[in-house]
Amino acid sequence: MSGETLLKVQGVETYYGNIRALAGVDVHVDKGEIVSLIGANGAGKSTLMMTICGAPQARNGSIIFDGTDITRMPTHLIARLRIAQSPEGRRIFGRMTVMENLQMGAGLDSMKYFNEDVERIFTLFPRLKERMNQRGGTLSGGEQQMLSIGRALMARPKLLLLDEPSLGLAPLIVKGIFAAIKKLNQEEGLTVFLVEQNAFAALKLSDRAYVMVNGKVTMSGSGRELLTNPEVRAAYLEGG
Ligand code: ATP
Repeated sequence: MSGETLLKVQGVETYYGNIRALAGVDVHVDKGEIVSLIGANGAGKSTLMMTICGAPQARNGSIIFDGTDITRMPTHLIARLRIAQSPEGRRIFGRMTVMENLQMGAGLDSMKYFNEDVERIFTLFPRLKERMNQRGGTLSGGEQQMLSIGRALMARPKLLLLDEPSLGLAPLIVKGIFAAIKKLNQEEGLTVFLVEQNAFAALKLSDRAYVMVNGKVTMSGSGRELLTNPEVRAAYLEGG
């Protein structure tokens, strides 16, 4: 970890019509960190991820990425700054093959690394290599998640945003996906901001984490601190 801030979200408020989904959110992610955001259904976690990507845009507050103010920037320009997202529900292209999905993730300026990047992703997720000509829609949930992350990695992101990578997956598959995220972080220094309902897995993986309740950050600390915090344990780790 370099201690250098890559993403700084300050006082961000996001609305859906008159409904305020984010009520003044402050979070930051330093280069080389894995940071997670945990919280109950409807807390606003996905909204924060989407707001960072510019859709919906924040009504108030600011989002600075790698020294650039992206608060009012259109999504395609934000993507060009190398923020890549694996969204909730994976959103892979069901009728396209694994290879074609990966192609869709590569930005024009990363096309020259295409073969090299595909090989990296196949090394990380060998299952995708076995299935490279299979249509996305016929993959298992875990394979679709691997593909969604792989597609995001094709953009050579400086920041990878992951929205609920464990959703609907069996524990063993979740373990594999989280191990891959850790590997990317440790071996390539990839910075990751992760939204999770599986608080236990997320906190174990993360350097730092934030707890969100009703559109606000209510607690933050190292992954280890929050894992042992009695309030976090009662709300998100025990029987939840
Ligand atoms: P989950 O884990 O269930 O996805 P979350 O923490 O990611 O929850 P969000 O999806 O960000 O929460 O939702 C935050 C709030 O904003 C909720 O009250 C939700 O109903 C509302 N919301 C989300 N999307 C929309 C939308 N498109 N239109 C109106 N309200 C929305």
